[in-house]
Amino acid sequence: MRMIEELRREIRNIEQFNIFTGIDWKWLEKHLERQEKLDGPLSGKRIVIKDNINVKGLPVTCGSNMLKSYKALYNATVIEKILAAGGIIIGKANMDEFAMGSSNEYSAFGPVKNPVNPAYVPGGSSGGSAAAVASGIADYALGSDTGGSIRQPAAYTGTVGLKPSYGRVSRYGLTAFASSLDQIGPITRTVAQAAELLEIIAGHDARDATSAVQPVPAYSKFLTDKPKKIRIGIPIELLKEAIDADVRSAFEKTIDTCRQAGFEILNVNLPNSRYAIAAYYILATAEASSNLARFDGVRYGYRSQSEAKDISSFFAQNREEAFGQEVKRRIMLGTYVLSSGYYDAYYGKAQKVRRLIYKDFNTALSKSDLIVMPTTPTPAFRLGEKCDDPLAMYLNDVFTVAINIAGVPALSVPMGKTEAGLPMGFQIVGRPFQEGTILQLGHFIEEKNE
Ligand code: GLN
Repeated sequence: MRMIEELRREIRNIEQFNIFTGIDWKWLEKHLERQEKLDGPLSGKRIVIKDNINVKGLPVTCGSNMLKSYKALYNATVIEKILAAGGIIIGKANMDEFAMGSSNEYSAFGPVKNPVNPAYVPGGSSGGSAAAVASGIADYALGSDTGGSIRQPAAYTGTVGLKPSYGRVSRYGLTAFASSLDQIGPITRTVAQAAELLEIIAGHDARDATSAVQPVPAYSKFLTDKPKKIRIGIPIELLKEAIDADVRSAFEKTIDTCRQAGFEILNVNLPNSRYAIAAYYILATAEASSNLARFDGVRYGYRSQSEAKDISSFFAQNREEAFGQEVKRRIMLGTYVLSSGYYDAYYGKAQKVRRLIYKDFNTALSKSDLIVMPTTPTPAFRLGEKCDDPLAMYLNDVFTVAINIAGVPALSVPMGKTEAGLPMGFQIVGRPFQEGTILQLGHFIEEKNE
């Protein structure tokens, strides 16, 4: 009971950031009663869950009017694992509608504000999750990352965000955006917490055919082991992109720190990454157009009140009234690139680019153990700044999308703040299923920055 009262007070204090899509206090009371009896690695720890992950009995809105009144009928696998570990789920986090966005302004629940400075966006699409950790209301959060949605908000809010290798964490119970790119991962205050949470949520799941059978190592152990001779690759072509001066100098400073510590720094090539944004916005929208076809007002979601003259106008009305602008834009784009006559020119071509990007990473990661780059080209931007310019918004993802396309894991760890006090992220990319090495370097950088 005391915990509930405390929580109510704390949540009132952070209301201005608009972090939650909702908190069901009745559910929470029962949940607390149950969880407090458990003794596990997450006992007493507060966790916030992105609102596209199923928690049985709670709404799973995906930040959309389409699902505002839809409740999850079962727990996602990651939720089962968190519950078994004794974690306390305090609420569902606001997000860009169906995880499409980079600022958390495309939400039917209104924008999330960055706790570091509420005039700025927290990043997206897992903006509520990152803001929950940054504001201190949660110890841990879960986000999902299709093209940067864990790492970019982590960079903007000064938190740690990890996108695991494709297949490392079960997607069962995650609302699909682009199934070949989506992964669930932790957002936390420290690298040690990210390691801890990954260890709990990772592993094979028979209910997700794309989940890997690889054993789950004790990730926390990597942090106590002294870093070995890690070879760090700098992707020279990618760093020719326009990068904010503060971000560039913080990045170079961090590289210097690594060099001084005796890590080998070498140049690597990811020549096809310049096509990553174009390929991503074809592949992701194509998959989204198919995944979101299920939201028609019959099987799921919003149903229009107005009279429909036939079945197809009935579907159209429901979708027209409930989806936001960005989601509609993606569905149209995705339908277009898959349509007969354009399929080969767009979707087929993007699949080929995907293969090339995958090969680039493979080659680069055989010369080096890790690849590093800024998480984002700029620090957080102001609320409203990019809302009317979808392309400018997409360009934010220049350093994150290629990683999902290649299926490799990546971590964003804070690398200081700009003069204006805005956090920046250092991104560490590794070989598939080598999250341990990534966490090791992340932990080293975190300690140096303290
Ligand atoms: N910003 C990217 C997009 O809008 C990434 C989203 C994500 O990772 N879910 O698609």
